Amino acid sequence: MKRLIREAVERMAAYTPGEQPSDRGIVKLNTNENPYPPSPMVMEALQRIDASALRLYSDPYGTALRDRVADLCGCRREQVFVGNGSDEVLALCTRAFVEDGGSIGYFDPSYSLYPVLADIRGARREPLPLGPDFGWPGGAASASPLFFMTNPNAPTGVQYPTEAVARFCDAAPGVVLIDEAYVDFADADCLHLALGRPNVLVARTLSKSYALAGLRVGYAVGSEALIGALCKVKDSYNVGVVPQRLALAALSDPDWMRRHAGMIRATRERLQDALRALGYVVTPSQTNFVWARPPRWSARDVFDRLRQRGILVRYFAGDRTGAHIRITIGTDEQTDRLIAALGEIEGEGGRQP
Ligand code: PMP
Repeated sequence: MKRLIREAVERMAAYTPGEQPSDRGIVKLNTNENPYPPSPMVMEALQRIDASALRLYSDPYGTALRDRVADLCGCRREQVFVGNGSDEVLALCTRAFVEDGGSIGYFDPSYSLYPVLADIRGARREPLPLGPDFGWPGGAASASPLFFMTNPNAPTGVQYPTEAVARFCDAAPGVVLIDEAYVDFADADCLHLALGRPNVLVARTLSKSYALAGLRVGYAVGSEALIGALCKVKDSYNVGVVPQRLALAALSDPDWMRRHAGMIRATRERLQDALRALGYVVTPSQTNFVWARPPRWSARDVFDRLRQRGILVRYFAGDRTGAHIRITIGTDEQTDRLIAALGEIEGEGGRQP
C-alpha cells in the first residue's frame, strides 16, 4: 500500500511531555510551572474580554504585544516575534533556517524537544556533549545552520558564561537560538547578543516566570531579518485574541514577575541547602528547578517513592541524565513537604538499588 505517513514521522518517537495529573491534591513539581497564580492584572484583563472580541480573528502580527515586548527589551517592534508558546518559536526556526537535508545542533543534555524537532523536520541531529558536571564544553563549536542553546540550561539548571556563548555565536555558521525560558531566575541574560548580532535569536516564555503556562505565549527577539523570516512561515493567526490580551496584561506588571521570581529563587536556595544536608549532589541552579543526584537510592527509585507520597518530580532515563532527578521549585509549603518526604526516603529500609 502507498505510504500515507512520511517515513521520518513513522520512524520518530514523539516528545514526552511531563505528566499533567487531574488530581489537584498532588504536589506537582514536574514541569517547571510557577507555583503562584499570575498577576491579578491578568484576571482583570480576562474579565474585560467580551464575546464580540472573540468573534473576530486575532491581530495576525500581535502588534500591541510586540510593542510591549520591544519596550521591555529596548528594541523595535520589527525585532520581536510572538508565538503560541516558545515551543512554537522553536518549531518555526526549524522551518525558516534549515534547508532540506540540513542538521540541527544542541547541547546534550538539554531540552529534550530539540531532537524531536529535528526528527519532524527530517534534519540530522547534531548533539554536542556538555562538559563534566554539565558545564560549558571547552572547544564547543557548531557546524549546523541552526543551534538551540538553552541558557540557563534545562534540565541541569546551569548558566553558561556569557563570554563563551558570545564566542560560540560569532563562530557559528548559522543561526543560534538562545532559549532563555528560565532567564528570569538567573543572574545574567544574553539579550544583548541577539540585539547586536545578525545570527542570534533569544527566545523567552511567559510560561515560567509570569505563571502563564496554560496561556501559551512565548516570543523571540533578534535581527529584523530573522524575525521577518519567522513571520513569513508562521500560521496566519498563531496567537489567539485571549492569549494576546492576557500576555499584554502580564507584561504590563513586570514588578509582579520580579517579586515572585525573587521568592522562587529564595526557596530554591533553601531547597538546595536541604538537599545537600541529605547528601544529595546538587548542581547549582539558575532556574526555577533543581537538578540533583540522590546519595543512596537510584534516581528512578526516589522518583517512584515520591510519587507514592503524592509528590511528582521529573526523571529522565538516559546515560547522562538517569542518575538525577529534576525538582521544580514549589511554594515554601510544598518544598517543606518534599524535604520531609526525601528525609523519610533516605531513612527507609528495603532493597538497595
Ligand atoms: N524551552 C525550554 C528550555 C523549556 O523547558 C520549555 C518548557 N518545557 C520551553 C522552551 C517551552 O515553553 P513554552 O512553550 O511553554 O513557552
